[in-house]
Order: sequence, then structure tokens, then C-alpha cells
Amino acid sequence: MKCKRCKALAAIALPSHHTGFCPECFLKYFSDQVARGIHKHKLFSHEDRILVALSGGKDSLALMQVLSELEYDVAGLHIDLGIGESSEAARGFVENFCSKRGFTLHIVRTAEHGLAIPDVKAVVKRPICSVCGKIKRHYFNRFAHENGFTAVATGHNLDDECARLFANTLRWDSRYLGSQGPALPGEGKFVRKVKPLYRLTEFETAAYCFLKKVEHGKAPCPYSGGASFTGHKRLMGDLEHKSPGMKIQFYEGFLRDGRPAFAAACREGADALMECAKCGFPSAAEVCGVCRTRDMTAAGMIGR
Ligand code: SF4
Ligand SMILES: [Zn+2]
Ligand SMILES: [Zn+2]
Repeated sequence: MKCKRCKALAAIALPSHHTGFCPECFLKYFSDQVARGIHKHKLFSHEDRILVALSGGKDSLALMQVLSELEYDVAGLHIDLGIGESSEAARGFVENFCSKRGFTLHIVRTAEHGLAIPDVKAVVKRPICSVCGKIKRHYFNRFAHENGFTAVATGHNLDDECARLFANTLRWDSRYLGSQGPALPGEGKFVRKVKPLYRLTEFETAAYCFLKKVEHGKAPCPYSGGASFTGHKRLMGDLEHKSPGMKIQFYEGFLRDGRPAFAAACREGADALMECAKCGFPSAAEVCGVCRTRDMTAAGMIGR
């Protein structure tokens, strides 16, 4: 197969685009897809200060790299969850990546806020991933708000987004279907959330990291019980194999035709948010879930 752009020998086949690219043209394609997504959904501009959520995995590091090459004003934030060797390894990948490339990196350690994930896991009754996700979202948002960032960018890719959309659709979960997308607008102490890699697949971000020599973590978190939405991703992968281009059509079609209808329904039934009495960040109850988890964890530590 020949490269679509320069006609040299193609190294990376992209069946969903009925094409392939040589390494150099693939990097150009990747960066163009990110730029296209940013412009199409007005995710942010060169005036914005963007905080990139860096987990140490391929998607978040690829995101930081490509946004910096597109000359956006970016800084990284890594949240150290305190999960033993797993968290140490993740932090190592992020620190290496940022120091080699001269990127600004901030680190928040949840243990310093009374929320080391193993301690939290020992006291909560809900699945740890939903609590951990809430803690991470809280600190990404809080750090961004308190430090003047105008957007928080995460490395969710097309496979993540399609699998989540598929799961939300199976449940007809109108609240999530009304807000899922590459941009969640900011409001009050909620900083805008954006997903600039939403047009690129997992395969493509892995290929980008390989070509850019980005070393990233591959081991799953010991609490993950397997990657999220694995079954849904496999199913969507089979459909994509039979109908190349299906994933991006499914997702873009939803953004165009589905989400507006659900968003209108959600606005009608939305609960008003108040400020958490402890941390001052938006909360559905008097004290937010993160502060309640911190109190429960402290009480559990004393009882041990
Ligand atoms: S797998 Fe679950 S516990 Fe581990 S980092 Fe992810 S959300 Fe947190
Ligand atoms: Zn080429
Ligand atoms: Zn709170």
C-alpha cells in the first residue's frame, strides 16, 4: 500500500479511512485530526490556559505532546493516587516524559488530602473505580480553578467515547446522553472539560506514541479488574471491521442529532447545585461526595 499523501511506502494502515500513511504523513494526519476536532467543536483557542490530565498512559501523553506541537498553552497535572508500585510507576512515566520535553508538571497526591485510594477502598461500599473517578475529577477541576486554567483536557479517544456512548444508549441514560461529548462547558467553579483526541482511535494514539518515542505505562491499575468497557469496545471493533468508518459516524451523528434532544430534556429536570459546606466546590448535597469520602476514610483509619 502507498501513503495517501506522498505515495511512499505506507507503514500504517487506517481501514476506517480506506487508506494508509508513511510515518511522517501519519503524524501530520494525527495532528490534523486533533486540530479539526478542536475547531469543529470550538474546544478552546490559543488564548486558553489548558491543564492536561496526565495519567502516564499513552492517550494522555500523546495529548500533551500534540497540543504542545500545535502551540497551545499547556501544563500537565498528574494525580498520584497512592496505590503502591502502580502509582509510583505511573508517576515515573509522567515525570520522565515532562522533564525530557521541558513541560510544566504539577502533581497532587491524594494521600496528602486524606484520600489514598487503598485507604478509601477499605471503607467505601461502592465500587472503588466510581469513587476514585469522582476524586480525580474533583482535584483536576479544583486545581484548574484555583490556578487560573480555563480548560481541563483529558485523553479520551474515539474508542472510549464510542464505548461509553454505546453503554449510555443501552441504558437510555438521558442524563449522560445529554452531556456526553468532546466539550462540557464551564460554569461557576466548574472549569470547561475537553477531549481533543475524540476523533482518534486507541490504535492511532498507540502508533503516535511509538513514532514520537513516548514511553508510557501499559500495566492496568490493580483495582481495575480489566480495562473499562472492554466488551463494548470489542463489539464496536467488530462492527468497525465490517463497516469501516462506523465509529466516527456513530459518534458524530450522536453529537449532531442525538445529544441536543437529550440535553433539552436534561435541562428541564436538572437539580440545582449548591456549594459544599467543607470545600466550597459544587455539590448536589450540603457536603460533597469527596469531602464525605474523606471523613469516612479518616473515621475508618481511626477504627483500624
Ligand atoms: S482503575 Fe479504578 S481505582 Fe484504578 S485508577 Fe482507575 S478508577 Fe482509580
Ligand atoms: Zn507519506
Ligand atoms: Zn467538598
